[in-house]
Amino acid sequence: MSLDLVCIGEPLVELNQTRPGEPEVLLGHGGDTSNCAIAAARQGIRVGYWTRLGADAFGDAFVELWRREGIDASMIPRDPAAPTRAYFVGHGPRGHGFSYLRNGSAASCMRPEELLEAWLRQARILHASAISQAISSTACDTVFRAFELVRAASGIVAYDTDYRPRLWPAARARAIVNEAARQATILLPGLDDARALTGLDDPDRVVDFYLGLGASIVALTLGAAGALVATAERRERLAAHRVRAVDATGAGDAFDGAFLAEYLRTGDPFAAGRWANAAAALATTGFGAVAPLPTRAAVEAFLAGEAGR
Ligand code: ADP
Repeated sequence: MSLDLVCIGEPLVELNQTRPGEPEVLLGHGGDTSNCAIAAARQGIRVGYWTRLGADAFGDAFVELWRREGIDASMIPRDPAAPTRAYFVGHGPRGHGFSYLRNGSAASCMRPEELLEAWLRQARILHASAISQAISSTACDTVFRAFELVRAASGIVAYDTDYRPRLWPAARARAIVNEAARQATILLPGLDDARALTGLDDPDRVVDFYLGLGASIVALTLGAAGALVATAERRERLAAHRVRAVDATGAGDAFDGAFLAEYLRTGDPFAAGRWANAAAALATTGFGAVAPLPTRAAVEAFLAGEAGR
């Protein structure tokens, strides 16, 4: 069976504190590219995911999650030596904060020669993020090699510039992200990351910068201000949908997955942007990165409800 979308990166188990100061945690799933894969699968397209997992219980939890979501994870190696890692979400008087326990993860040990070329070449779109490349230099090389393979098979490369300053120095992050943007057809930056990476403030200038590097489509997310979708010929500013937003964790990943699924269905980046803007708004209405990711039917119902108002 061929695949519409393959995502590559690092999944992380989420340990979410149930109450401030309490030792109990709720086990969940995160990792930007895994969230994106699930968001896309819920739109009804065929999705594959590639990473490396530890031969451990956290790894089993991801295999089970992707099985439930109908995602092809059959090519993922299990590493007996390096673990599946996690992050902790703590809740305190000043809101919530993230602590990452990701050093030495199985995913960060990925190497280009481990890529299963025949499996990867089926992808109509390959999606990776700057986090997929920041976790180690071999992961960075693996992502570039995957780009090469998919492009050689006439597939499309999509990339989210997700920037985590703690994972790598700014100069290296800029160099790698700009090179990835040159190679990508679809670029999916968030405004905060793009500002930090480019030094530009205005969304239109950010979009100009990334189109200038070579991306054909730039869909810049603007948080509660919506999104800006652009090609060399046209750009469209999308106002955010009015929803009762309670947790924007993973909203960008929801946007990416819904955008890529709708782009594959329609070939229209502006239709994809409108769809993703609605899907991401819905994703902010529940807690956690995965649970509130909407299905295609939920996005359809939401848009129909808005049109009827
Ligand atoms: P990231 O998670 O990458 O920082 P953003 O915060 O830019 O991503 O959010 C991604 C998308 O989620 C936005 O483009 C928008 O469509 C939607 N979104 C985020 N916050 C809200 C909100 N408060 N209300 C409605 N939609 C939102």
